[in-house]
Amino acid sequence: VFSHVVQAPEDPILGVTVAYNKDPSPVKLNLGVGAYRTEEGKPLVLNVVRHAEQQLVNDRSRVKEYLPIVGLADFNKLSAKLILGADSPAIRENRVTTVQCLSGTGSLRVGGEFLARHYHERSIYIPLPTWGNHPKVFTLAGLSVKTYRYYDPKTRGLDFQGLLEDLGSAPSGAVVLLHACAHNPTGVDPTPQQWEQIRQLMRSKALLPFFDSAYQGFASGSLDTDAQSVRMFVADGGECLVAQSYAKNMGLYGERVGALSIVCRAADVASRVESQLKLVIRPMYSNPPIHGASIVATILKDRNLFHEWTIELKAMAERIISMRKQLFDALRTRGTPGDWSHIIKQIGMFTFTGLNKEQVAFMTKEYHIYMTSDGRISMAGLSSRTVPHLADAIHAAVTR
Ligand code: PMP
Repeated sequence: VFSHVVQAPEDPILGVTVAYNKDPSPVKLNLGVGAYRTEEGKPLVLNVVRHAEQQLVNDRSRVKEYLPIVGLADFNKLSAKLILGADSPAIRENRVTTVQCLSGTGSLRVGGEFLARHYHERSIYIPLPTWGNHPKVFTLAGLSVKTYRYYDPKTRGLDFQGLLEDLGSAPSGAVVLLHACAHNPTGVDPTPQQWEQIRQLMRSKALLPFFDSAYQGFASGSLDTDAQSVRMFVADGGECLVAQSYAKNMGLYGERVGALSIVCRAADVASRVESQLKLVIRPMYSNPPIHGASIVATILKDRNLFHEWTIELKAMAERIISMRKQLFDALRTRGTPGDWSHIIKQIGMFTFTGLNKEQVAFMTKEYHIYMTSDGRISMAGLSSRTVPHLADAIHAAVTR
């Protein structure tokens, strides 16, 4: 009965790793996947995570019972505090509901499903370009996906004028997806002044912000700095949604731990919203997994562990920033034609190199370097040892 089923294409991002794994070359380099690697090219489990896990294992009173539908209470409370700030009036006034979800993706999906059921406007505007999963997540949640201009290939920076025009002509009430920091795939973020202009425009048109925060602390190295965009929108007393992921900033990728917060105007609204979120979650996966959320809660509630985390997080962010500098210098040393300053200006895990499809294909074929076909490279997958190989490949690709 399934013989008519056709072969589906690989996921454009995860498919890069599939191709990489098949390549026998000893010099192969995977810059496709957005996961942190050490200088030695190895995945990293943070020491603070090991410490928290040790505490959890030693605590014989812990059991493996189901969590409530909305997840671990401590985790939810602490996650809201982490993104909105410990002194957030919205939290103090109980206007925020937070539910534990399956990492960032699951949080976006639950938020999307909630909006499709209970919000009056179906359109969600996503930046062009954006993380490849966004359009699929929101379409399948039942929303109508539109785009707003974001990136200008000419300047390799923000198309701020285009962004303002497109949001300015969006229907009143439309949902707008915003990357809280470290925009994926471009690495281009608005400045604080530009954020303020975006906020004013959106509030004047009653556009509803839906923040995707997948890189808090990972962009600048500071948890507070990377949350400024979100906090600016919460400070004005208006509504917003925030999807948080602990995949990158705690290295908990496979634990699938994240949270969706919905900031409302009043406590009774937040409580009713939460009751409806439960109806979204229960038939989807019933309740979320316990282990990852317990690790996060253990770290966030302990002063010493929290401090240890911020140091390790900063070290990851700084290694990425140093890779940007090294790659930029290596291209300059080679005299590679073009202005490569965007490599050091962009922020977060990715550099949007500006290399085209053909150049990417050439680098994969001749240099065994794997990346998404839009020319996005994960800086976290680079090391001092591999920078020269990448710089040689880029140089060859653009001077061919
Ligand atoms: N949003 C953005 C912008 C991302 O880059 C990612 C991860 N690549 C996610 C959401 C979701 O990641 P996860 O589901 O692993 O938390």
